[in-house]
Amino acid sequence: MKNNIIFDLLFPKHITCNVCSKDIFEEGSNGICSECQKTLPKIVGQVCFRCGIPIHSIDRYCDFCKKSKPYEMARSCYEYKGKIVTLIHNLKFNNAQYLAEDFSKDLCKLYKTEKYSCDIVIPVPMTQARLKSRGYNQAGLLANGLSKLINLPYDENNLLKIKDTKSQVGLDFSERKNNLIDAFKTKDKKFFKGKRVLLVDDIFTTGATIECCARALKKGGASQVFVITVAHTMKDFDKKD
Ligand SMILES: [Zn+2]
Ligand SMILES: [Zn+2]
Repeated sequence: MKNNIIFDLLFPKHITCNVCSKDIFEEGSNGICSECQKTLPKIVGQVCFRCGIPIHSIDRYCDFCKKSKPYEMARSCYEYKGKIVTLIHNLKFNNAQYLAEDFSKDLCKLYKTEKYSCDIVIPVPMTQARLKSRGYNQAGLLANGLSKLINLPYDENNLLKIKDTKSQVGLDFSERKNNLIDAFKTKDKKFFKGKRVLLVDDIFTTGATIECCARALKKGGASQVFVITVAHTMKDFDKKD
């Protein structure tokens, strides 16, 4: 992980809320004040048992998850809309790495609510080239923060993204999946053997990335793969994206 001393000096913590721009005085919040925290689009109520998208029917699974999936369960804290879109954009592209700390707490709450039971926490990886150009992997910040809160080991070296794929924006599920074929692999064949892996990412969009990672993990011997993300897109991705 990159050394952020200079960043911390330039942008000290506890200054302004990323949403309303007011000063934050309360302890324990890094980028979202408690008032704005309450207004974020939390996912509540019935969700698809597999992918965690809100559903309004008596079915256990959404249409998309009626086929089997390579992961056991995925859950997300928020709907990917409104202020969450801006916050995640800032976390990813505007160097607002401190937001990962607040989001890790949300992920921790969800981990406990869902009664997940895992052995190791890992992020959805980036290729070395992408990591170099961005300087950090936002999923790594989230996974590392979460691992500390739930007292589990963190690893970022054994699930690798070996192929940089063209941008996924605007692609639907099957296009994304084709784009990602053979993009992920495990490094040490024994590392994940028999482990229950918690896979962390910022956004669950179509699930194509998550599925490809989960498939690589299972191929690498993981016994179960649980997924947790900050946000889940609400588009009807049965039809498009
Ligand atoms: Zn605020
Ligand atoms: Zn589903």
